[in-house]
Amino acid sequence: QKFVYDFTEGNRDLKDLLGGKGANLAEMTNLGLPVPPGFTITTEACKTYLDSGDEPKELRDEVSAHLDALERTMGKKLGQADDPLLVSVRSGAKFSMPGMMDTVLNIGLSDKSVKGLAAQSGDERFAWDSYRRLIQMFGKTVLDVDGELFEDALEDAKKAKKVTVDTDLEAAELKKLVTRFKKIVKTEAGRDFPQDPREQMDLAIKAVFDSWNGERAKLYRRQERIPHDLGTAVNICSMVFGNLGPDSGTGVAFTRDPASGHQGVYGDYLQNAQGEDVVAGIRNTVPLAELESIDKKSYDQLMEIMETLETHYKDLCDIEFTIERGQLWMLQTRVGKRTAGAAFRIATQLVDQGLIDEAEALQRVNGAQLAQLMFPRFDETTSVDTIGRGIAASPGAAVGKAVFDSYTAIKWSRSGEKVILIRRETNPDDLDGMIAAEGILTSRGGKTSHAAVVARGMGKTCVCGAEDLEVDTKQRRMTAPGGLVVEEGDLVSIDGSSGKVYLGEVPVVPSPVVEYFEGRMHAGADDADELVAAVHRVMAYADRVRRLRVRANADSAEDALRARRFGAQGIGLCRTEHMFLGERREMVEKLILADTDAERETALEQLLPFQRKDFVELFEAMDGLPVTVRLLDPPLHEFLPDITELSVRVALAESRQDANENDLRLLQAVHRLHEQNPMLGLRGVRLGLVIPGLFTMQVRAIAEAAAERKKANGDPRAEIMIPLVGTVQELELVRDDAEQVLADVQRETGTDLKLALGTMIELPRAALTAGQIAEAAEFFSFGTNDLTQTVWGFSRDDVEASFFTAYLEKGIFGVSPFETIDKDGVGKLVRDAVEAGRATRPDLKLGVCGEHGGDPESVHFFHEVGLDYVSCSPFRIPVARLEAGRAAA
Ligand code: PEP
Ligand code: MG
Repeated sequence: QKFVYDFTEGNRDLKDLLGGKGANLAEMTNLGLPVPPGFTITTEACKTYLDSGDEPKELRDEVSAHLDALERTMGKKLGQADDPLLVSVRSGAKFSMPGMMDTVLNIGLSDKSVKGLAAQSGDERFAWDSYRRLIQMFGKTVLDVDGELFEDALEDAKKAKKVTVDTDLEAAELKKLVTRFKKIVKTEAGRDFPQDPREQMDLAIKAVFDSWNGERAKLYRRQERIPHDLGTAVNICSMVFGNLGPDSGTGVAFTRDPASGHQGVYGDYLQNAQGEDVVAGIRNTVPLAELESIDKKSYDQLMEIMETLETHYKDLCDIEFTIERGQLWMLQTRVGKRTAGAAFRIATQLVDQGLIDEAEALQRVNGAQLAQLMFPRFDETTSVDTIGRGIAASPGAAVGKAVFDSYTAIKWSRSGEKVILIRRETNPDDLDGMIAAEGILTSRGGKTSHAAVVARGMGKTCVCGAEDLEVDTKQRRMTAPGGLVVEEGDLVSIDGSSGKVYLGEVPVVPSPVVEYFEGRMHAGADDADELVAAVHRVMAYADRVRRLRVRANADSAEDALRARRFGAQGIGLCRTEHMFLGERREMVEKLILADTDAERETALEQLLPFQRKDFVELFEAMDGLPVTVRLLDPPLHEFLPDITELSVRVALAESRQDANENDLRLLQAVHRLHEQNPMLGLRGVRLGLVIPGLFTMQVRAIAEAAAERKKANGDPRAEIMIPLVGTVQELELVRDDAEQVLADVQRETGTDLKLALGTMIELPRAALTAGQIAEAAEFFSFGTNDLTQTVWGFSRDDVEASFFTAYLEKGIFGVSPFETIDKDGVGKLVRDAVEAGRATRPDLKLGVCGEHGGDPESVHFFHEVGLDYVSCSPFRIPVARLEAGRAAA
């Protein structure tokens, strides 16, 4: 087994072994780009080290051999006293991961070699500056010393000399700083800063390995479902210096604008600086374009390299580079992150440039990005002050009054106020407040903080880690830089897509992408036009290749029409329960209270025309497309008054001795129908079997509506769906009755009705006996909400507010199984039921109508198991179309 690869030996396909950074450094080396020589220690070495708790001897030997070779190439030895070779040690896992040790630069400097470096470079200041940086980074990341101690010491040195930037510190001051830094290490780490260069390197390598198992890294992996056994690679790279004077510098660049996708010169450059200065924002960078006037030769070369990289990677790349005394060096490249809008634009631009095809373009975007583009946004043209900026943790635009505790959030929101919950950080006690708020703002914590994770789970706007905002929950206020104070009740606006925080109310504008789907988008604002054009094209790519059809969960003509505009190819779930509410509740009450067949029939006869009218409108809105109508599902008590309220009302009336007969009967019925576990009680098909005439009334309404539409030359395509079936016998009984009604209506109306009859598969027993059930069903629609509830034994109405946060934090799942299908458990039942159902009835139509039908990851799963369609809420249809296309491409 080979543990170490020279940069010349690897390539970009070896990310598993060399990590992202190492694989790309090798790729650039082999492209002939100027990469400082070096080597990569593999993820396998990391795994072996972590398994045995020690460095394998082979690894040590291989590192020695590669270091020898590097020293020969460079013509000097690591830490050589008169002319030291210096290296950087950088971690590089397959996926970039917060919580991992990052970089130590200048390894090889010591009390001796710092003098050699000074002599060789002819720059004493540079040498001592490099040395203090090494001790600082090494102390912080390898020896776990609190980084602020070094920062404070540096600040003191600047103050003592009355300067503000570190470049104004002279060699003498830096020398003193080195002494001070070494003391800090000694006191805090209980050991001297190592003077042996090889020991420095070895310790840094081990620190990278160990950081793989740091708590933060582990938590991140659990949440992102990154396997724990990948390990990280370590890159050892010979140092080049951007801090050797004004003809040196360091910068970052993008091959095109990661915000808009436009081609051009994007990036930042910092003269006379080393890498971390740019990120740390210690001094102000200049736009990359200015490099042209600073160092034309390097600039031209960089432009050429960027072109090479883009053509080679066929994608936007981001780059870190350094210029050492006029010589350009590439330190890193990778396919760069981009905004959601840019992802769509870049994908289509690359198709136009002939670099990628449509199938590849689909892989360059995703449903989450499309969903992000569909959120309303703040109108950036209005002048409202930004008071801070945090991490864009959960997209959306939220406006509300500032509140600083959950209690107030709940209280105010109950009285109709919109609130933004502002906390230093949130914890599970804040859950109710988070639910009540329009958005959540915290001053601490990153993308995996409690606030971020929970807000994303709830689809709520969240900005977290806005560190320049000082939150004082006791005084109920927040202070922005410059001393501006936001008091409880002041209006604030937060943008979960940019992380920006505004004082006051920023007007919200609808998303141009939604306007486009709604058919309201017209030429005008150019930037929006460009985005819409890109989305339009990508959607067309997806529609061309996808196998899954996409339907909507909709139960009104209005929703159906919107769904159609969004591209729905039918209705996969029309829940009929809303048709039993409002003015019809009284009829439902009569139905429930009926003592005799005659009373019951009268109640049903009253309901029938209402139901029929609903269906006529729906079939008209979806003319020519399938509409799956589900017969009544929820327990009947949901249509009756609340048991406590009614009890109180009756008790009060009785004390006044004017209790009315109807209330008394209602109360009896409420008691009779009361269930401890209504979700597992009298609902779904069970209702149809114990309340005579209920389902047949619904079937009649559907059939008569279809007949009416036919007479009006329409093309109704109704399908009748039975909920909560657990055994084929239930379905057979309902089916016999339904067929009788259909035959009656055909005869009465003289129309030829072919209505498919099928069932939901939403109980484990239904999935397990799908082969039998398919004998009585022409289609299955997987009800993954109830299926998840019953497979896990999780009450779908309770768990997300009770213990899911704890489960998410512990990494038991990275996302709620009610949101993304649990492939191993619930998914296995779906897969088996598909197979068994099709074995019985090869032309069985298969779909899903649980919430998962609009979830990107789940859509891929449904494609893979061979469903015919997914059905989701109208707003998620574009996302489902796109993901169905991506799954098929
Ligand atoms: C389901 O259970 O997945 C489903 C679609 O039905 P409902 O959500 O109405 O119970
Ligand atoms: Mg259900």
